[in-house]
Amino acid sequence: MPDSTYRRTKIIATLGPATESEQDLTRLLQAGVDVVRLNMAHAKHDWTREVIRRIRTISQKANHEVAIMMDIKGPEIRTGDVDIPIELRPGEIFDFTIKPGADRENSEEIRSVDVNYRNLVNDIHVGDTVLVDNGLIRLEVREKHDAHIRCCVLTPGTLSSRRHINLPGVRVNLPSFTEKDRADTLVGIEEGIDFVALSFVREAADILQLRSFLKEHKSKARIVAKIEDQSAIANLDEIIRATDVLMVARGDLGIEVPFQDLPIIQHRATRTCLAVGRPVIIATHMLESMISQPMPTRAEITDVANAVYEQADCVMLSGETTIGKYPIECVRVLDKIARRVEEELAEDMPHPTVFLDERMKFMRSAVVMANEFPGSRIVTFTRRGLNAAGLSAQRPARAPILALTDSLSTLRQLRIVRSVEPYFIGPFGDPEKTLVRALDMLRDAGRIKVGDKLVIISDVITTDDERVDSIQLRTVG
Ligand code: PGA
Ligand code: MN
Repeated sequence: MPDSTYRRTKIIATLGPATESEQDLTRLLQAGVDVVRLNMAHAKHDWTREVIRRIRTISQKANHEVAIMMDIKGPEIRTGDVDIPIELRPGEIFDFTIKPGADRENSEEIRSVDVNYRNLVNDIHVGDTVLVDNGLIRLEVREKHDAHIRCCVLTPGTLSSRRHINLPGVRVNLPSFTEKDRADTLVGIEEGIDFVALSFVREAADILQLRSFLKEHKSKARIVAKIEDQSAIANLDEIIRATDVLMVARGDLGIEVPFQDLPIIQHRATRTCLAVGRPVIIATHMLESMISQPMPTRAEITDVANAVYEQADCVMLSGETTIGKYPIECVRVLDKIARRVEEELAEDMPHPTVFLDERMKFMRSAVVMANEFPGSRIVTFTRRGLNAAGLSAQRPARAPILALTDSLSTLRQLRIVRSVEPYFIGPFGDPEKTLVRALDMLRDAGRIKVGDKLVIISDVITTDDERVDSIQLRTVG
């Protein structure tokens, strides 16, 4: 008996001109968005503060707190300004300069553009590939000079100002947490964001650096590591262990690695996250065609379904909801596909990982019990979200995890976790009284009804006044 009232896979939507107004944002949340993402590559600080406050106000009005994820852009290579767009022809020789106006031989014949990466000449090799504008234009490095590299155009295209550059396989020597990232994150911390997503994470140390920055500024924000290049893949295991959440950032990843490797990396990253109990997000191009069309392509439908089959925690929208013509429809499409696939999924759930940790073994027992009672729900109490996340990591076949918390920030952070439905209950008191209060609230919210089986994870107090962990099976009376 599938529970059609809830969706296990969570939806992240990026905010932009198509969705930032109060009205659009309200509709976006109503359509079922769990997490709102702000892409700092395009955001000004005034705008950032304003929309964060707007999201909070709308959430409160709707009595549905969503999480806010600030995505900081990390080390990013861009071209400088060009007066008029340059039409690059196949076979044309073209220069990337690291000092504008630096002397170049034949410079009157060979066109060029500046890049913001001072170490370019040191870090790149003859024969390497330079990709411009999300991989649309492809060049090959032919010569290295003091202040420029000379390339040959392989795939032609039009180069306009400030285009994104990818250097597949090159270990880019830019700081992972830039000055801009620092300033952006401080704004986020002041406004109380729930997640910081770090772009182009290359190793665990990048995450530790951000973690100590957050700690230093007393932020409780959780870290999302975005894997988008070959270094991240080489260090995938240590990155997954160091981060709170992983994002498979397929936009850049898909051009930094041979494209046929992308599905393999996605699968491996998702499997590893499931094995260690880290939430994982599948991002970019999920419904790309819906930026201009009201219906997804068959391939997109299948791609979204695949993420749900892989049991990822979240699917994410970028351009679809920032500049797209059909942002609300996109959320509805994700919602529909996820619910439909989840119905099927319970039938042939792969065996979840066996965790050795004692707490996780305890959670596992609760999930086994819930799986044995079709139609049951899991009820748990959680301060920092650990119980709820632990239960989710065991991927219950059907039961939603109704997580009651005394902390609003925990509630919001649980929005990213598969199968978890968080509720705010206020201060915890005597366990049995708190449980009664919780059940009343869930009944009022229409989430449990008379006759439902509940698997409850809670403390009980013994006659000797000792607190012990318990897993109980109760029927709603
Ligand atoms: P971006 O990251 O949208 O910040 O580039 C996501 C991706 O590269 O997929
Ligand atoms: Mn990216």
